[in-house]
Amino acid sequence: MTIKSTIIVIEDEKTIGEFIETTLKAHDYKVFTAASGQEGLSLITSGLPDLILLDLGLPDIDGIEIIKQVRSWSMLPIIVISARTQEQEKVLALDSGADDYITKPFGTPELLARIRTALRHFHRLGQSAPASPEPLYFSDGLKIDFTRRLVTLNDSEIHLTQIEYKLVSLLAQNSGRVLTYDYIIHHIWGPYADNNNNQILRVNMAHIRRKLEANPGEPHYIFTEIGVGYRMKENQQQEALN
Ligand code: CA
Repeated sequence: MTIKSTIIVIEDEKTIGEFIETTLKAHDYKVFTAASGQEGLSLITSGLPDLILLDLGLPDIDGIEIIKQVRSWSMLPIIVISARTQEQEKVLALDSGADDYITKPFGTPELLARIRTALRHFHRLGQSAPASPEPLYFSDGLKIDFTRRLVTLNDSEIHLTQIEYKLVSLLAQNSGRVLTYDYIIHHIWGPYADNNNNQILRVNMAHIRRKLEANPGEPHYIFTEIGVGYRMKENQQQEALN
């Protein structure tokens, strides 16, 4: 069996911390758990983790502060553990440099999937600079060939406008991860994008869904993370290659 990554869990709620630790150990991850921010920070510097799972509401240090501190010296993947209603906090965490978040209560498959995605993106980034883009996205009949700029759904070509294609490929290149509205807008329309772009983004996403989704009201490929952004279904092409 291959040795899996080391994960540091910073979570002050004992039951959640224990659940995560037990789950990850059962899947061969090496786990260290801290119940406070201070303890977490010293574990991060001493434990050489591959990934950090971070609760934002800690007794001593604000989780956002921990993200900023870690980001000042490392690009280690950070997944935030967050409560359902804290959209603003999730956005702030992502904008401060967290890679993703997982909402309580969460199950084992979701936790493991988020960890795999974050680790994979991190390792891809580490391989070359700038990051080498994926040549292909494939998931349940939806295929994007990035070199040919070709999108097909069950082998029929889908015609996207230039902006629609840019949006879909941005999400597909980051599949499995949430991208905030701000991130997407600045990536597509540049640093001078303003509030009007929120509306333009929404309209474009509606058009994309009408073209890609069998039922745009219940999306299968591109999910809305309410108040935060969009997340595209994980690239199964990558799974096959792993
Ligand atoms: Ca907490």
